[in-house]
Amino acid sequence: MPSLIPSIPHNEFERYQGLDYPDIAFNIMRRFTGSDLEDDDLQALCHDAYDFNIPLENVFDRMYIMRLDQGPTASFKDFAARMMGRLMQYFLSLDGRYLTILTATSGDTGSAVASAFYGLKNIRVIILFPLNEVTALQRKQMTTLNDNVQVIAVNGKFDDCQHLVKRAFMDHSLSHIPLSSANSINIGRLLPQAIYYVYAWSRLSGRVTDQVLFSVPSGNFGNLMGGIIAREMGLPVKKFIISTNENDEVPVYLKTGNYKPVVPSRNCISSAMNVGHPGNLARIVALYGGIMDEKGGISKTPDLFKMREDLFAVSVSDDETRATIKDCYKLYRLLLEPHGAAAWKGLQTYMNLHPDASGENRLSVSLETAHPAKFQDEIKKILKFMPPLPPSLSEIGNRNENFIPLDNNYNIFKNFILKHYK
Ligand SMILES: *Cc1c(COP(=O)(O)O)cnc(C)c1O
Repeated sequence: MPSLIPSIPHNEFERYQGLDYPDIAFNIMRRFTGSDLEDDDLQALCHDAYDFNIPLENVFDRMYIMRLDQGPTASFKDFAARMMGRLMQYFLSLDGRYLTILTATSGDTGSAVASAFYGLKNIRVIILFPLNEVTALQRKQMTTLNDNVQVIAVNGKFDDCQHLVKRAFMDHSLSHIPLSSANSINIGRLLPQAIYYVYAWSRLSGRVTDQVLFSVPSGNFGNLMGGIIAREMGLPVKKFIISTNENDEVPVYLKTGNYKPVVPSRNCISSAMNVGHPGNLARIVALYGGIMDEKGGISKTPDLFKMREDLFAVSVSDDETRATIKDCYKLYRLLLEPHGAAAWKGLQTYMNLHPDASGENRLSVSLETAHPAKFQDEIKKILKFMPPLPPSLSEIGNRNENFIPLDNNYNIFKNFILKHYK
């Protein structure tokens, strides 16, 4: 966590109405980077990272979908990965250092990280993914790059991949190899994810009296953490709706006060949210005055009353997700993929439980985190047509794949690193 989350005065937020996304990004990031980067360098970096659209679609009343799927890998993870890759390359090249990024992915992180770091001179990347839990397209996005990107298929689940990575970071016998993470436990990914919350508010409101309700499809809770950081900086947020899939450990926790990871995590169609114990949960608990350890044990209870005031958590089943994709298309010609559909369903659930909140003055934004074309098979089953691939993805099919299969065994993984990355 940053030792201090800087606050932004309201009139500064209002000024953002007149700025484009890269310049809003610059204004937010510089509050954290301080004098570590020249303003000109940071501004150039933000413009280079964010050269794509961020559509906000009105559905009805003041309810919006924000599409975070227009980056090179068609996932919201591009926002974080592109900024982080550029920042790391900038600092490494200043003093001629090299770094190996070690990252576990449930599908979309890997491709976003691979794409964002691909070809960067001072960085090598090792990506671990669960062999049978990513779509062919997600896999190809990682395995067709090569160069400085090494991909490993683990015979296990996402949580296993993450476990291997976490263990490598804590292993003293690897401490001579400069390793860094790119998962949503990396603060360099959380900060850029605060920016689009501010952007949404600046486009849709711009009045400090207008608090926004955000619905966030959540797995490892990095996206949500970005939103919470934006709110801590002063962004007027009414509430965050945490929409999970059937991995419901956090909705159950907020309801009962008892936290129990889902082991093994459940396989749902919103595969990037198949997380049984979110890596960022300890940060959220800490923000509310509690202490949670690696495994999810709570030694100091956070202010649950305040948490429930700020956060509304809801678990959305696969059946509800499919029905939402169908209804949204039928009713509004709104095309959603499973993660964005879970978020929209979570928002509906909240609105139904709080009828006072459904008035047309209640501004709300539901995040669509991947392009529907990344889930063609599922969508074809539900809507009977294939959403067309965006150009960034349509070329991948013909390229050669390259990855190493690996048992879910830490010693094998460690020996691989020692052999190839000394
Ligand atoms: C990673 C991902 C999520 C979950 O985001 P977290 O930050 O892990 O909560 C949701 N949707 C998609 C498409 C993703 O790739």
